[in-house]
Amino acid sequence: MKEIYTTLSQLQVVLAKMFAIEDEIKEIPMALADKEAVLQKTKITYLELHEKSERVKEELKSLRTRLDEAGVKRETCEKMMETITQAREFETLQKEIEEAKNAEQTLRKGLIAKEKFYDELNTKLTIQEEIMAQQTEEVEEETKVKDSQIAEKQAELDKIIAEKDELAKDFDQNLLFKFERIIRNKGGVGIVPVHGIVCEGCHMTLPAQFVNDVRRSTLNEDSSNEESDIHFCPYCSRVLFYEDSADDEHFDNLFTSEDEDEVGDESGEGSDFMGDSGFDDLDTI
Ligand SMILES: [Zn+2]
Repeated sequence: MKEIYTTLSQLQVVLAKMFAIEDEIKEIPMALADKEAVLQKTKITYLELHEKSERVKEELKSLRTRLDEAGVKRETCEKMMETITQAREFETLQKEIEEAKNAEQTLRKGLIAKEKFYDELNTKLTIQEEIMAQQTEEVEEETKVKDSQIAEKQAELDKIIAEKDELAKDFDQNLLFKFERIIRNKGGVGIVPVHGIVCEGCHMTLPAQFVNDVRRSTLNEDSSNEESDIHFCPYCSRVLFYEDSADDEHFDNLFTSEDEDEVGDESGEGSDFMGDSGFDDLDTI
């Protein structure tokens, strides 16, 4: 078999490995991004709680001031009670004391409820702080792991790329580009044998004349490693080479019985077939 097919087979393994590592590198930051998003959410919740807590603190301050004022007012009225002489003044003062007492009671109730709410908020804040600290630590750890994983994968990738460059050093860039695309799009399998007249990549039956061209290219040891010698499956785009198999008999019969005259006829059925849409697709790969 010609050297180029062997090289392509080796290149296929290297490229598949290279794409797998590239995908792994792409996926590494995704796990971290999720954790970072969660931390961001926690931070927002914490800030909202903190703001609310500050607001409640101000409200508590104002409630306490109003309670103090009501107390002072009541005490002043009570002192005045000791010095009054007229019944009318007594009634007015009595009323004011009553109002001040009611105000004190209402304010004290409000204060107790608000203090309870403030305590609850602070408990939530403390919990949120703990969660935030834990998540921050996780993100930091994850970042370290990510960095070392990426460095490790990058080193692997560099090695693979060097292997690829070495294997493909004599390759036409267009062929290499095409082959890389095939490997990427066809699940890591870019070069497959033809058994009989069937492509082992997509199991489609190929035209006999075309198979003959593939067989000639594969068996011709003297021919140079030209891209034009490479045949691509018109159905699945993979590089094809001929391989002996149990189906050979069928292939041989096919040529000896029907198409013997056309074997090697470049202007015959084979070249018509080259204009088929299957081949046009290859140009866009
Ligand atoms: Zn195929």
